[in-house]
Amino acid sequence: MSNFSNVSRRQFVTIAGVSTAAVLLKGCLGNPPETTTSTSTPVSSPVSSAQPAAAPEVQTIKLGYLPIVEAAPLIIAKEKGFFANHGMPDVKIDKQANWGAARDNVKIGSAGGGTDGGQWQMPMPYLISEGIITDKVKVPMYILAQLNTQGNGIAIANKHLGKGVSIKIAEQVAFFSKLKSAGAKFKAAYTFPKANQEFWIRYWLAGNGIDPDSEVELLTVPTAQTVADLKRGVMDAFSTGDPWPTRIVADKIGFISALTAEIWKNHPEEYLAIRKDWVDKNPNATKALLKGVMEAQQWCDNFDNRKEMASILSKREYFGVPETVLLEPLMGKYNLGERSVDDKSMAVLYWKDEKGSVSYPYQSHDLWFLTESVRWGFLPKDTLAKAKDLIKQVNREDIWREAAKEMGVAAADIPTSTSRGVEEFFDGTKFDPENPQAYLDSLKIKRV
Ligand code: CA
Repeated sequence: MSNFSNVSRRQFVTIAGVSTAAVLLKGCLGNPPETTTSTSTPVSSPVSSAQPAAAPEVQTIKLGYLPIVEAAPLIIAKEKGFFANHGMPDVKIDKQANWGAARDNVKIGSAGGGTDGGQWQMPMPYLISEGIITDKVKVPMYILAQLNTQGNGIAIANKHLGKGVSIKIAEQVAFFSKLKSAGAKFKAAYTFPKANQEFWIRYWLAGNGIDPDSEVELLTVPTAQTVADLKRGVMDAFSTGDPWPTRIVADKIGFISALTAEIWKNHPEEYLAIRKDWVDKNPNATKALLKGVMEAQQWCDNFDNRKEMASILSKREYFGVPETVLLEPLMGKYNLGERSVDDKSMAVLYWKDEKGSVSYPYQSHDLWFLTESVRWGFLPKDTLAKAKDLIKQVNREDIWREAAKEMGVAAADIPTSTSRGVEEFFDGTKFDPENPQAYLDSLKIKRV
């Protein structure tokens, strides 16, 4: 180690030893931490419940992300210096070509040229932990935070405009059966199977009385092909994250039948999950990383910051789309083609929503994803009996809590229960996490 890095290391330990509240306050101004700070005087501040944090074991990690608004907390934490504020100046965020690549890269790990973790649809961290989508190789993962809620939608090809295909589908059976008997079954796509995007499209159809397995054709389409295939009429619909629904309307390729915020307001969306071996080896770095993510989520939820956020995300190395295409959905302004929405509570949210915390990973939401997987026959029925143990192994909400407390997050913003309670969907169906079987029993369309 050179003299320089010795000095840096010593200074770094000094910074890490000071009250995190001070670092947090500096972070709010978007400044990097000071390099000379006294360790002795605790800083008095409104967030005085902050506890001193131990120095991170490492200052680097490699996280994968996909170019959709879900990734914003990772990109913003990096760009605004929030990771650095908490002692993780060298976080690498790596754009993934698609979800399959994200999965393959976390399986290899950063030592093999892959990643240590990153952004995930659900229940991917479970499927990877159990070896279900990794050729039977179990790669245990920890879910550490939810990245966002809402911000996704279902795009429909323009040829179906004006036929009553909306959040509630008018004359639903006739619309789909007419196509089916004409030999042109409605084709709905997503970029990765058995995860959020497929769940939203299935829920929307089944909630309208359409059996997604017999009345329509569901298919996986590579990300790069989705817009072109919708344009060419190869498919009729696809489920995707912002800003793509807005882009499709702007390019006059299609319209949006439903925002996911309409299917399930404040629904769970995507998560930060990291390999268990990395977290177990680097517990302090994990909390430092989480604090950077949380600070970014707070910043992202301030609508005054969303113009700057759109400008950062639009850069070529991140999303590579025009800033205006990003800004509209970020402000809750959606031109859905046949109708429009202008409501910030329907936009992608990162820190808080009407139901409470967005960042905190509720175990009750993991249970919904596992239950929904059983509903459609993606996971065996006995998953429900094992779900509690499985969730305890994978969902580390306890680490989120510790990080939040150390950071001085207000007690009111730290959920007291691992369950968000009973959830309600657009069709009136309810999911009580205390009784997932009752939810399955109540559903008319299912494979279980
Ligand atoms: Ca998504």
